[in-house]
Amino acid sequence: MNSKKISSDHIPFDNRKTVSQLLTSYEETRCCIYAIICALKIEVPWWYLGCPGCAKKVNPYLNPETEEIEMDKFSCDGCETIVCSIKTRYQVHCKVLDHTGTTSFVMFDKEVSQLIHKSAYELLEQQVQFNSGNEFPRELLALEGREFVFTVNKPETSKNYTPSTFYVVNVTDDHAKIL
Ligand SMILES: [Zn+2]
Repeated sequence: MNSKKISSDHIPFDNRKTVSQLLTSYEETRCCIYAIICALKIEVPWWYLGCPGCAKKVNPYLNPETEEIEMDKFSCDGCETIVCSIKTRYQVHCKVLDHTGTTSFVMFDKEVSQLIHKSAYELLEQQVQFNSGNEFPRELLALEGREFVFTVNKPETSKNYTPSTFYVVNVTDDHAKIL
């Protein structure tokens, strides 16, 4: 998939922040957090059906004339169009921890595929095949307890508003970068 929109090729690893700094700074920034995944949020779905164009979640298409849902079509709010092909994509919510505190991150398709070397489609197929479609995949659970450098987008926030979940745009466990 084309994920050039969020290019992570040139992310500097110098804008390092702790979890506490992330939660208490107000400015918009892209920064690196060295943290451990302490828990995956298994109550939230780990995958979604995404638009092949913009990667946003698609909705079932309701034909306004027949008022029926058409199974082979989906509507994308991002592209404001009807799409006929969709892609299973990762959206994995996790709690992370460093020595200053905890917060929540969400990782998307590129990062999770890179970490577990399997596409969301392959993993979902495998879950269904082994009759464990409702269980949380063990490949993902195996990420618990691992340490990474997460690059996250931090939006501008105010005293009264801090997002509860930050979007991850890059993950690495490359020791050179960690050290
Ligand atoms: Zn779209």
